[in-house]
Amino acid sequence: MVPRVVFGRGSFNQLNDIIAPKRLSSHAPFIFLVDDVFKGNVWLTSRIPLSYQDKILYISANEEPKTSQVDELVEQLILTNKELPSGIIGIGGGTILDLAKAVAIMLTNTGNASDYQGWDLVKNPAVYHVGIPTISGTGAEVSRTTVLTGPERKLGINSDYTPFDQVVLDPELTKDVPKDQWFFTGMDCFIHCIESLNGTFLNAFSQSYGEKAYDLCMEVFMDDALSAEDSQDKLMMASWHGGMSIAYSQVGVAHAMSYGLSYLLGTKHGIGNCIVFNHLEEFYPKGVTTFKNMMRLHKIELPQGICASLDDHHFDTMIDVALSLEPLWENAIGKHWKKTITRDKLKALYQKM
Ligand code: NAD
Ligand code: ZN
Repeated sequence: MVPRVVFGRGSFNQLNDIIAPKRLSSHAPFIFLVDDVFKGNVWLTSRIPLSYQDKILYISANEEPKTSQVDELVEQLILTNKELPSGIIGIGGGTILDLAKAVAIMLTNTGNASDYQGWDLVKNPAVYHVGIPTISGTGAEVSRTTVLTGPERKLGINSDYTPFDQVVLDPELTKDVPKDQWFFTGMDCFIHCIESLNGTFLNAFSQSYGEKAYDLCMEVFMDDALSAEDSQDKLMMASWHGGMSIAYSQVGVAHAMSYGLSYLLGTKHGIGNCIVFNHLEEFYPKGVTTFKNMMRLHKIELPQGICASLDDHHFDTMIDVALSLEPLWENAIGKHWKKTITRDKLKALYQKM
């Protein structure tokens, strides 16, 4: 679990007080990985506390993080600094938070990031790392994984060293998120809840967090009367609880199939989950009905026909990626999932998207 967290509108202002005691030396800088959507945004960047050789690196979130990108960033940091950084601070959405976690791990572990995709392969504790989400939903701020696309697969570095040492939850940072993106990333949280609560891995720990996150999502996405500030506050806590819920369970069908879309077509996580989930009535009837009501209420249109021009080879690639995520299927369907989840079934589902 994340050992330290602060919550509150304006809590971003405490960043200096939080990190200053963690500085190792004047040659060991804090490196701020910041979503480049904030480049030139004085409201946010003027409050990033820079001293000595601290640096801001602006990173585009147009593409989800890659293992090669992590390796390049780590090499750059090692070559340009005399000492290991005092800390890595990620400020952005799931893309930037995952990058920050992965860079912190790879600064103290040899080899390439792709060597550590999987479960509990990381040997050494990471550099001190702080997560500051600016959009809510993925739960990346609280989770034990950092999801990376590697040469062979899209898979997380899941380890006890992955979670942030400190998280700053300031809902005000999410105020300028565009409406569609707010919905897609928020639905990632809603789908985490549905997949966790309807999964065979569910236990009392996951259920307690999952139910809370679900209730918060219902307020945020179904209650018109909620103020913008309440909505931002509640969605940030929904994301946190949704992430905690899957920490001790798993995601399910939507995530498995969405990873296939992402691997082949580069479809981003939030929107990809929505595109898939829209066709999963068979697996999650109540959740999908609620999801469609939410889409209607917020006038969200999903892209159609994204698989229309794909050939059999493409479908095979997506199906391979989806089926390789065995724990997700086992959670969703049960131990004997291979009896019902066939390649033909997945192809037919992909063809609808
Ligand atoms: P994102 O980080 O990709 O950001 C989406 C868009 O929103 C980007 O264009 C970004 O620039 C913009 N944005 C972010 N904050 C903004 C703000 N305050 N104002 C205006 N624009 C803003 O989106 P995401 O959905 O948060 O993250 C998706 C990533 O998270 C994927 O890479 C996925 O694999 C990963 N993920 C990780 C976990 C985990 O547990 N580690 C869980 C789920 C998803
Ligand atoms: Zn997700």
